[in-house]
Amino acid sequence: MTSTTDTAPETRSFEADVARLLHMMVHSVYSDKDVFLRELISNAADACEKLRYELLSDPALAGEDGQPRITVTLDPDTRQLIVEDNGIGMSEVELAEALGTIARSGTRAFMERVAAAKEGEGAQLIGQFGVGFYSAFMVADRVDVFSRRAGADTAAHWASDGLGSYTIQLVDPAQAPARGTRIVLHLKEDAASYTEQFTTQRIVTAQSGHVPVPIFLKEKPD
Ligand code: ADP
Ligand code: MG
Repeated sequence: MTSTTDTAPETRSFEADVARLLHMMVHSVYSDKDVFLRELISNAADACEKLRYELLSDPALAGEDGQPRITVTLDPDTRQLIVEDNGIGMSEVELAEALGTIARSGTRAFMERVAAAKEGEGAQLIGQFGVGFYSAFMVADRVDVFSRRAGADTAAHWASDGLGSYTIQLVDPAQAPARGTRIVLHLKEDAASYTEQFTTQRIVTAQSGHVPVPIFLKEKPD
């Protein structure tokens, strides 16, 4: 779908460290891949918390959608798992900064440990460090991120197969949440079980039970 607000997708290379990390994720033999969901839900909850903080000085940002919420949608037919929040969202510039570089100290520490680890030991470190957003590429061979920052009337789309580059473009805001971020995981064939409600509910309960934002799990996008 295109509209007058869309810009052409611009292809950019990942920072070298991100490319290295993604290579590890794409080829990961780490067995506890469930951790990707904890990471995405934790980012969604962080985004709701950041919005709550900004609302203190700018209450108008709430718009009509006040209550924080995280929705996980499963679509077995298209083999998609979608995590959506109505938190702070990201502008096009913030998207490229957040999902194209390693800003995060925990991920940096992980990379240093992996570099120092013996061959084959790296995988076990994934669980110990929690590698954040990029862990999505353990289970997905393509990730789309649609985001709209609170108060903005533009939306951006980031997409990658995790193989060295990503694209970014402005899109019709109707393609993004009214506020916040939608992360669409196109699951690998061997990760299809994450579209089963029972499986994913179990993981959410076990790993994200403490998250201070309500999490809704549903089957099929609207
Ligand atoms: P961390 O959460 O430790 O910063 P991540 O790799 O999990 O590291 O995420 C990287 C960055 O991407 C976050 O710091 C945040 O700026 C941005 N981000 C990821 N997911 C979201 C989201 N759902 N909403 C807003 N920003 C996000
Ligand atoms: Mg995180």
